[in-house]
Amino acid sequence: MRPWPVPVPLPDNPRFARRCFCSDIKMWYYADAQALQARRASDEQFVEWMADSGLNRFLWIHHPGDTWDEIPPMAEALRRRGIGIEHGGHILPTLLPRERIRDIPEAFRLNQHGERAPDGNCCPHSAVALKVILAGIDKLLDAHPETPLLHFWGADIRGGGWCYCKHCQRLTPQDQLLLLCNYIAEHVERRVNAPEIAYLAYYDTIIPNLSISPHPKVAVEFAPRDRSYRFGLAGPDAYNAPLAAGLTEYLRIFSGRVHVFEYHMDSVLFGGLYAPLLQTLYEDLNFYHSIGVRSISNLYFDDYSILAHAPTFPAYALWTRSSQVEPGELRLRLVGEYAQTWSELESAAGKLLAHSELRYPERTDPARWEMLHALGEAAQKQLGLLLRACKQRRLHDPRALRLDFLRYSVKLARARQLQLEAAIKAAAGDHEAARALRATALAALGQTDALLEALSPASKGLFGVRFLPYMSRIHQAYLQHGTFMG
Ligand SMILES: [Zn+2]
Repeated sequence: MRPWPVPVPLPDNPRFARRCFCSDIKMWYYADAQALQARRASDEQFVEWMADSGLNRFLWIHHPGDTWDEIPPMAEALRRRGIGIEHGGHILPTLLPRERIRDIPEAFRLNQHGERAPDGNCCPHSAVALKVILAGIDKLLDAHPETPLLHFWGADIRGGGWCYCKHCQRLTPQDQLLLLCNYIAEHVERRVNAPEIAYLAYYDTIIPNLSISPHPKVAVEFAPRDRSYRFGLAGPDAYNAPLAAGLTEYLRIFSGRVHVFEYHMDSVLFGGLYAPLLQTLYEDLNFYHSIGVRSISNLYFDDYSILAHAPTFPAYALWTRSSQVEPGELRLRLVGEYAQTWSELESAAGKLLAHSELRYPERTDPARWEMLHALGEAAQKQLGLLLRACKQRRLHDPRALRLDFLRYSVKLARARQLQLEAAIKAAAGDHEAARALRATALAALGQTDALLEALSPASKGLFGVRFLPYMSRIHQAYLQHGTFMG
């Protein structure tokens, strides 16, 4: 699907130099030729739209188990349109193959029980770990010598991924990651067009806590995935305040070398909900720019994200260039008579997006549960009223407002809300009420499956065809058995 066009002429002299989109390469399901083919036409349209909208970078994010670094036809289309391709992602666990625990156990992290463990990251003090990782980096850069930014990220887990050996014990997770990034930057320095190395500030490393200094070719990649999206990062949500302060501190430590990695169109984080986020995006980009950030990327997932966050795409393309057109004006230009409806949808979704992790509401900070639940209830009410008003006014437009998708979204939000309520009851020791709520949530989830199934494959993408039903099964198993299997 081609995202909506930017509805005004693109301003000259973009205020962000790097304007990037990124996506997990595994979401192409590339081992399955049919799935790969299913995305092809849509990917071409997306690349055309990116080029026409002045976006200039693309990153395929690697996860353990990935065997491809890029999707060839799309990579070719990106290169043809002059869009730079970046490589890397959660590559550390792949660069140090897990089976090597047998012959080089010392390369792996020592866990808190004093055992070498093939999970998480390596021991950054191990010369043999470094040798294996640097050889892997060389191979990656030999295959993609043009990559301008190499994303060297650790395992995609919270806590527990770091080394506790006698050398590493005194180092924070931030130090351990930076130490590795510094070695890599030093190692690749002699290459023609040596890339910058991105140190990932994320989960364990989001707030700087460093005792060592960065190599001049190491930059921070600041990815505030645990934030609230109800307001901009520097807005009134106290939960975001330490993140905004952390970013400012990183800018100082790294002499301005900071790339922001954002999630305004992340259908995984937002659990598949209909969530236009213009006001928050506008505030975020203005804040990032005001403190000196000049590089930003945003994560998306195929046609589904384009459906769920439709106006956010052109808004991102426009506001990475200039702040001149404000959200109200942009909504009017994008959807005309639907502008008010979009604004209401945004306000309801914003309340839900105060969760930091809509996929698993039970995994958010329990101290926030009551507040999130109250916001969720308000959002439910607002979404329900909006849906009724749209039906009454017969507002339905396959481009501007899809009632079938809104209905799915309302039901999904209801299911997540019930899950959160069950967690609150269980934490308070009221297990009977928790059980009853989980049963109601399970029934609500069953209804969401039917509504999702009814959406056309062309509009919901592989994400809606494959990933969301898989997520739903994980949640159903959780509601039945009380633990997450995935
Ligand atoms: Zn160690």
